[in-house]
Amino acid sequence: MVKTLFDNIYEGYAYSYPHKHSYRRLNNLQLQTLWQEEKKDALFLYVHLPFCEMRCGFCNLFTIANPQNNMVDAYLQTLEREALAINNLVAPQSFGQLAVGGGTPSFLQPHQLEKLFAIIRKLGGKPEHMPSSFEVSPATVTREKLGLLNEQGIDRVSMGVQSFLEPEVKALGRPQKNNEVYAALDLLKQYSFSTINLDLIYGAYGQTLSSWLHSVQEVIRYEAEEVFMYPLYVRPLTGITKLNQGPEDNRFIFYREAKQMLLAAGYHQVSMRMFRKANTPHKQAVRSYSCQEDGMIGLGAGARSYTHTVHYSSEYAVARQNIRSIIEKYIAKTHFNEVDYGIELNKEEQQRRFVIKSVLHGTGLNVNRYQTLYGHDALLKYPLLQELIKAGMASLKNGIMRLTESGLDYSDAIGPALYSEDIKQLITEFELQ
Ligand code: SF4
Repeated sequence: MVKTLFDNIYEGYAYSYPHKHSYRRLNNLQLQTLWQEEKKDALFLYVHLPFCEMRCGFCNLFTIANPQNNMVDAYLQTLEREALAINNLVAPQSFGQLAVGGGTPSFLQPHQLEKLFAIIRKLGGKPEHMPSSFEVSPATVTREKLGLLNEQGIDRVSMGVQSFLEPEVKALGRPQKNNEVYAALDLLKQYSFSTINLDLIYGAYGQTLSSWLHSVQEVIRYEAEEVFMYPLYVRPLTGITKLNQGPEDNRFIFYREAKQMLLAAGYHQVSMRMFRKANTPHKQAVRSYSCQEDGMIGLGAGARSYTHTVHYSSEYAVARQNIRSIIEKYIAKTHFNEVDYGIELNKEEQQRRFVIKSVLHGTGLNVNRYQTLYGHDALLKYPLLQELIKAGMASLKNGIMRLTESGLDYSDAIGPALYSEDIKQLITEFELQ
């Protein structure tokens, strides 16, 4: 019954809505005006460092490998100018959550990390007082850097491992050494981060069910507090498109088996990709950030910012030379008072965003809150929600519509099925650089 609702389970990852491929040039909107009417007491602060020690074959994130050191220094200087401008023009009151991502922020040298945290603090971000996450890679973590993150109040460290078998990471276009992975894991355990998250990918060429489950078992053995399991998507312009890919698609089988293993080991499922160990302590900010209702301030090239009516960022690219030129343009920037790339969200898109962000996450869709905000019934407006309930893929209890255990498995079909026709069209027409 479930399968008849969706022809393709792996339509796309609705990480955010609208998707970045729907962004276009905007008519120089004033930053100050954009944020004037926004609530600013529980913002998300996201800082993007678009640098890595290598470019993985599966990755389409906005990052370049091995930039020169002076480029990173210059980038940090611009980041400081941008933070200053945001302080003056947006005047954030307080932050409810922090994430430092990229790229691989642990690529930075210790003195550069110090500078980065000084910038975050100047903007009013206090990592010790809110959930604060930092991305690292096995090859770039050192004792000194982890000590610094610990002192700064980072409580969640996320490391992309992808696989614990070298031939599999090689098939993903990532020449990673297992001894480096285990050394990084040992080091991480020596600090008091309340959450260590490990990312894994399933669906690599040559991967078998047992080789995949070996990686899942390693994560369980390590007692990682969180696991993100990503299905492999082969995306345009990424290195993996050139590698030999098998015709077989076992992703769903691999996912289901791994999920059962994690559940049996005491993890609970938060979303299709995310599993968290029961009783993991979770730091709370004075006012928690709500992804449906609070805004996001993105710092850096490639970072997205969200107000209720506009989502914006720098331009986006995947090819190295294009990413590089966007970063160089960012570094040269002296004024941050205008927003010129992104998408304006009309009422319809704001409503869809609320629904998509709620449904795909374990918290579910609060239909009463939706009714209060938008003045109509979400279940009537989006017939798919009713179909999901009828098919047993979602439940409705006490005003919360939630995907069931089997419904979560279809998140990558459900999310895109809730996109508006306008957004689908923009995504289709997007010219990837
Ligand atoms: S997957 Fe992570 S480490 Fe690899 S290129 Fe992308 S951001 Fe960098």
